[in-house]
Amino acid sequence: MKLLEPVIGLEIHLQLKTKSKMFCACPNQEAAAPNSFICPVCTGQPGSLPVPNEQAVRWCILAGLALNCHINPSTKFDRKHYFYPDLPKGYQISQFDVPIAEHGEFQIITGGGIRESAVIGITRVHLEEDAAKSFHGEEGKTFVDFNRAGSPLIEIVTEPDFRSAREAKVFLQELRLLGRALGVSNAEMEKGEMRCDVNVSMREIDKNGLFVGSEFHPKTEVKNVNSFKAVERVIEFEIQRQSKLWQMSSPPAVSSTRGWNDDKQATEEQRTKEDSGDYRYFPEPDIPALDLQAMIKEIKPTLPELPAARRRRFVDEYNLSYENAKYLCDDQRLADFSEAMFSELFSWMETVPELETATEEVLEKEKHRLSKLAVGWLVSKYGGLLADKNISFEEQKISPENFAEFIILIAKGRLSTGNGLQVLQKMMDTGADPEHLIEEHNLNLVADESAISGVVKKIMDENPNEAARFRAGEIKLLKFFLGQIMKETGGKADPNVAKMILEQELGE
Ligand code: ADP
Ligand code: MG
Ligand code: ZN
Repeated sequence: MKLLEPVIGLEIHLQLKTKSKMFCACPNQEAAAPNSFICPVCTGQPGSLPVPNEQAVRWCILAGLALNCHINPSTKFDRKHYFYPDLPKGYQISQFDVPIAEHGEFQIITGGGIRESAVIGITRVHLEEDAAKSFHGEEGKTFVDFNRAGSPLIEIVTEPDFRSAREAKVFLQELRLLGRALGVSNAEMEKGEMRCDVNVSMREIDKNGLFVGSEFHPKTEVKNVNSFKAVERVIEFEIQRQSKLWQMSSPPAVSSTRGWNDDKQATEEQRTKEDSGDYRYFPEPDIPALDLQAMIKEIKPTLPELPAARRRRFVDEYNLSYENAKYLCDDQRLADFSEAMFSELFSWMETVPELETATEEVLEKEKHRLSKLAVGWLVSKYGGLLADKNISFEEQKISPENFAEFIILIAKGRLSTGNGLQVLQKMMDTGADPEHLIEEHNLNLVADESAISGVVKKIMDENPNEAARFRAGEIKLLKFFLGQIMKETGGKADPNVAKMILEQELGE
């Protein structure tokens, strides 16, 4: 048996959410009817002139910067020729030898598997126009809808640096987050806003993991894979298929293009791949070279906080585990919500009289205690409630201020876990503030000693054996009795008062 390792590279198209298309003024958005957002430029009429979309150029620079690329001070467009019904000009305006950005790198954290993290080389980031969409109707007719023709895309090409399906998937998820953080693309794979070509080959390694023989071997390219799951499946399938060939001592001799058949969950042979020579690239004569120097200077300082940095800050500022920070930051709305909530919590801390004279150290500790409490409720409890009811975070009704107020009530001991959960459920349904709901539904904790004493007496009478053992000093039964009290009072007994009363019974 040969030891083998996968070698994977991705080519990703991200649809930019500019107002207009790449080289004309047509709206860049979904249209109600086919061929409603079209003009002579994006349908390739003779004599029409393309004019580059400045916003798209700026966003490509921004994406290039976020991917740690070198931004070329001057760039140009090129024609890439191929024949296809959805390409009326017979060529696509793209970028060949001077992309806007190149030579970048991007770190992904997989947190396990073959390696914990990896730095993925970014070969290039360039700008191009999308093709139209063709679809096949009845009677063997093919229709073309040009609404998408000329939409701006950035293409991101990676080095063959992935070593597993999981790494590729994590990279794509990170890219989606990046597109959203930069505000350049929603990067929804299901909507075709992010599309991916997957390249896979295998190579032989020795027991130290060093490659044996050639560094790279002929690859398989699978074009236009359009979901995270499909990307994973494609890679896993190709690893299996190619490994078999390797073990039979007949590894693929030439590169090939295959397609993903979702019904069969398999890749299938397609035409053999053209290399760049076949595209007869040449400079687009209708668009002068662009000098980017002023734009680069202007854009650099506007780079927002990137997802990886935000996660790191969540870990530091709120004392979260990496997993929790990732969970909160994976959805921008949830991350924004959390920040607003933490800010409320921390400002409340400043109003607590006992903390006014506290040392830095004590304040830090208290901050961490609050954060931990808040994240526990937000991630495990509230996250669970939302998942149970199939409500997305986008649709949820609680404001960060009300959630913070709720956490404060728990922190102050005004709510126990039990009735806290009831309050949270009602907040989820109505979006109302917790104080209001506590009043309305009488969910205040019962801290009245005589009332709780009565309950304790009742439970002790009902459980004479346990009561005797407890009174004789079997302290571990405290938990049992606390549980019974909570059950009896519907979670409304103040746990601190209940505990105090129980402890008085000890040793009697
Ligand atoms: P092509 O000319 O066939 O498009 P490129 O060299 O431009 O090939 O690379 C396209 C993509 O394929 C890149 O993402 C690159 O990392 C990846 N790639 C290149 N060679 C290999 C290989 N031997 N195995 C896996 N991926 C590869
Ligand atoms: Mg390619
Ligand atoms: Zn147009």
